Amino acid sequence: MNMAVQAINSNTKGVAQNTYDAIVIGSGISGGWAAKELCDKGLKTLVLERGRNVEHNKDYPTATKDLWEFPHRGNMTRQFLKDNPLISKAAGFGEDTAHFFIKDKDHPYVQEKPFDWIRGYQVGGKSLTWGRACQRWSNFEFTAPARYGYGLDWPIRYEDVAPWYSHVEKFAGVCGNKDGIEAMPDGEFLPPFDLNCVETHVQKSIKQHFPDRHLVQARWAHITKPTETHLQLGRGKCQARNLCMRGCPYGAYFSSVSATLPWAARTGNLTMRPFSVVHSIIFDEQKNKAIGVRVIDAQTKATTDYFARIIFLNASALNSNLVLLNSTSQRFPNGLGNDSGLLGKYIAFHNYRANVRGEIPGFEDKYYFGRNPTEPIIANYRNLHQQDTDYLGGFTTFMGAHRTRGATANLTEEIGAAYKDALSLPGGWRVYMYMQGETIPKESNHVRLSKTEKDQWGIPLLVTSVAYDDNDEKMIKDFLAQSTAMLEKAGCTNIQQHDSKQAPGLDIHEMGGVRMGHDPKTSLLNKYNQLHYCQNVFVTDGACMTSTGNQSPSILYMALTARAVNHAAEEMKKGNL
Ligand SMILES: Cc1cc2nc3c(=O)[nH]c(=O)nc-3n(C[C@H](O)[C@H](O)[C@H](O)COP(=O)(O)OP(=O)(O)OC[C@H]3O[C@@H](n4cnc5c(N)ncnc54)[C@H](O)[C@@H]3O)c2cc1C
Ligand code: SF4
Repeated sequence: MNMAVQAINSNTKGVAQNTYDAIVIGSGISGGWAAKELCDKGLKTLVLERGRNVEHNKDYPTATKDLWEFPHRGNMTRQFLKDNPLISKAAGFGEDTAHFFIKDKDHPYVQEKPFDWIRGYQVGGKSLTWGRACQRWSNFEFTAPARYGYGLDWPIRYEDVAPWYSHVEKFAGVCGNKDGIEAMPDGEFLPPFDLNCVETHVQKSIKQHFPDRHLVQARWAHITKPTETHLQLGRGKCQARNLCMRGCPYGAYFSSVSATLPWAARTGNLTMRPFSVVHSIIFDEQKNKAIGVRVIDAQTKATTDYFARIIFLNASALNSNLVLLNSTSQRFPNGLGNDSGLLGKYIAFHNYRANVRGEIPGFEDKYYFGRNPTEPIIANYRNLHQQDTDYLGGFTTFMGAHRTRGATANLTEEIGAAYKDALSLPGGWRVYMYMQGETIPKESNHVRLSKTEKDQWGIPLLVTSVAYDDNDEKMIKDFLAQSTAMLEKAGCTNIQQHDSKQAPGLDIHEMGGVRMGHDPKTSLLNKYNQLHYCQNVFVTDGACMTSTGNQSPSILYMALTARAVNHAAEEMKKGNL
């Protein structure tokens, strides 16, 4: 019995009722974009999301709470931390945001090597909790793997994606300044957040002492001046509260829940189905293409099949690998589209291990207004026109300066009137820099399915086998030395270097496994994110990444998704899909 016939038998409502023009798997950052673009093109689109529904505002229970309104003042109980040692390590995780992250025991996986897989399973996925940094890739990143021979050549260049970056930036709302930097191209920006006085000082100092390095205002997915499109969706200006990860009542930062999904819903073409765990993509041997998706209801565990002409896989990088590996058939015994045997291989991530911190005297008469939710950025300055270090790749540096609270530094006792008075005064200024480093995709860094263990829905557990290498260690050393030098030149004192030694994964920028490329023998996807060997299936989340570059990845996933939908719609019109 082929998969298609099985599917019909397990389907209680009949094929017609479960048939759409397009299916999107996952409703996070990239799935939301797939839904918006497909619905805009007039395609009846089903979005399958394994987690619960989350509605803008209605489901942000902590968005306007003060810290003292939380039972544990923002912290988790010891029991919770004991039960959830992994997810509670995530950046920004706390009592105010825990509802947008999974619980460890509900979603196990096998760590062959330490890998902290951070997940948010709900409508909106991690778009509700992401940091929102949104820099464009430059051509240096698209061409570096081929130029320096450390990986596969990308089948696309900056020029292929640039119009789609613009398309996405305008809708999402990205603030920033046009700085004219080759390593971080300008975009369609809303007005930027200002640098504070110390950040401006560090910017000037870097310009003077390191002329090839550029510190610029944040490029962040925050609305600083709403456009007509934003206003139509009820999205407003950022109030600089920096409570974004709870969900923003103003819709001021970009998420699927505040922007792409409501836009898609307005077209009348969207069907959302939460609590739908996608088990696999159904391949029809006779038709030689995918015909639909098998879903297990997260609550009842009932199986239902849904059908469509095209399928967008946007379950987030490692989950998209999992779904493809689990989509086996006679034609594809090792996973859908996996003739090359490379599915699940060349997993990479961003290196976030190192940071430097220092104090800076001389600005004690100055302060700033609001809680800026963004950070200035130093564009990558390594290995651009030529290989100029003893390691491959480059790194972006995020920085910031802030005043501490409470001028308590010179007090020995943390008690009494003097201490109370000091607490009401601003303390000294501190400056920090942290890295976002490129890592080199390697065949040995991979994920695969467990042969023995399954989850509560009967789906094999993912095994992660991903680790740092010598290249990463060398980059960390260089970052620490260079950042320390920049802080010293700016006049910082008491500079401290730190290597967190955190496991891969905690960076939350996992990528690869279904990489794009020219040649089906060495890649899974073509230049439009279609599986080479199953062209009506598109993978446009982080799984498609051929290399990691050093810029924040999500805006690129959004641009690639919009580009791929455009291509899919054209191919459908021509009758090719
Ligand atoms: C704290 C934090 C800070 C971050 N900061 C930044 C940043 O500043 N800039 C940046 O670019 N990126 C940042 N990221 C990363 C960013 O969130 C991800 O790159 C992005 O969300 C990936 O989009 P996605 O669509 O692939 O996955 P997600 O947004 O995770 O969405 C995937 C969706 O698919 C669903 N799903 C998974 N498996 C299945 C299945 N089998 N069936 C049905 N549904 C399924 C999930 O429930 C989820 O809703 C950050 C992430 C976190 C958590
Ligand atoms: S800082 Fe801006 S985006 Fe973040 S929660 Fe406040 S208003 Fe919303």
